[in-house]
Amino acid sequence: MAREAQEQQPWYRRVMRWGQANIREIDALPGHYDVGWWVEHWRRTRVQGVIVNAGGIVAFYPSALELHRRSPYLDDRDLFGEVTAAARENGIVVVAHMDSSRANERFYFEHPDWFTVDAAGQPYLAGDFDGPFYTACISGPYYREYLPRVLREICERYRPEGFSDNSWSGLSRSAGICYCPNYRAAFAEYSGGQALPPGRGGETSLYDESGDRRRDFGLASLFGAHAAGGTLAAAGREPSYFRFVDPPGERPQPLALGPTGAFTAGWEDTLHLPFGGDLTLTRPAGAGERVPLTYVPPFPTHPPEFAYMKIERTGLPCLYLRQEQSGQGRVAYLPADVDRLYWRLSQPDHAELLAALVRWVAYDHLPVRVTGPGLVDVHAYTQAGSPPGPDARPGVETGARVIVHLVNLTHAGTWKAPVDELIRVGEQHVALRLPQGRRAAGARLLVAGGAAPLEMEDDTVIAVVPGIDDHEVVVVELED
Ligand SMILES: [Zn+2]
Repeated sequence: MAREAQEQQPWYRRVMRWGQANIREIDALPGHYDVGWWVEHWRRTRVQGVIVNAGGIVAFYPSALELHRRSPYLDDRDLFGEVTAAARENGIVVVAHMDSSRANERFYFEHPDWFTVDAAGQPYLAGDFDGPFYTACISGPYYREYLPRVLREICERYRPEGFSDNSWSGLSRSAGICYCPNYRAAFAEYSGGQALPPGRGGETSLYDESGDRRRDFGLASLFGAHAAGGTLAAAGREPSYFRFVDPPGERPQPLALGPTGAFTAGWEDTLHLPFGGDLTLTRPAGAGERVPLTYVPPFPTHPPEFAYMKIERTGLPCLYLRQEQSGQGRVAYLPADVDRLYWRLSQPDHAELLAALVRWVAYDHLPVRVTGPGLVDVHAYTQAGSPPGPDARPGVETGARVIVHLVNLTHAGTWKAPVDELIRVGEQHVALRLPQGRRAAGARLLVAGGAAPLEMEDDTVIAVVPGIDDHEVVVVELED
């Protein structure tokens, strides 16, 4: 895009590189937060926009609102104003950062009815920093009247390009429900006069919109499974397993639902996959579903004399596969917490299982597929030609280019922070499926520099990346 055309774009289309340096209360002291150093750092790293703490939980400017708690180190200083002015002088966009969800005890004592309470009427606390903080209610005057005054004050004084917020949505869903009069009234209005439900819900599809427990999944016909009540919890570190459903003494048959088998990850030679998690108890709905995996209960790992499967098979389903009779839609339902287990244990079979199911549901029609060694994070997006219209939503059908961002996550503690060493991974093949009539004109590598060789195979174009240290950006230009 020509530079002039780019500069005429509004900031939210133009700014791609953001910086955020959280300001702490104590940074309001002289000598703590070196505004000049930070602005120079942003210039040097070509940051186009910065997110700067302004107000809410702590104000970093001399707010005229009495209850708007200033940093106790601020005195008459206007730290937010200083940073904003310095960024502006260097052409850097400023977004004012808020934490709107909580306020301190002084505020709470002035307006206790503006804050969330549990069913017993006790306030939800939101941490103890400089004394206790309290969670404000999104249905009360704190959000409806007070915060708009704060935003207006910041707008009038500093004209930030926008606002960001640490927790605009108030009380987190996992913390509970607010039972204050404002929220009760808002819920009654929304629900046609109903009272707030007693619990917090949970377990998707097992509670209705009033929070009452259902006898069965609301999505039972979609899952192909009925709730059988309850969950078999994991037994500490003792192993449980999935067992491929098979006639005793025979090999499990490969699944043949449609053109793509569900399991093609080289499991032909095993009866079991490791599990070790929680299993929601279910029974088949008889809606054309197939149950390819069942449960093998945990058994001891120690002492070794007892380390064997006492129960080799059960009928408890661990995976349901369905294909809609009237269409092409496919459903894979795992009543097992395989995703959570993979995050915790990095067991490759769990990743292979999830990936195989995604491929099966998608008929293996993936728009982008990257193959190569190591663990590489993939994000793909499209860009329109120049200049894009204000409502341009470029897809691969109409866009000018496809951009694939690859981040090398391979290191000794893969998946877990911190990265201790950059381990270069070798050749990556980035394959894009193109719609009919579209062809690639060429590909560039923005980090390594230069062109990437392209190979065409039917409707797929493959760009070859020789290797990645930390990241690479592959830009595939499409022909008009
Ligand atoms: Zn409330």
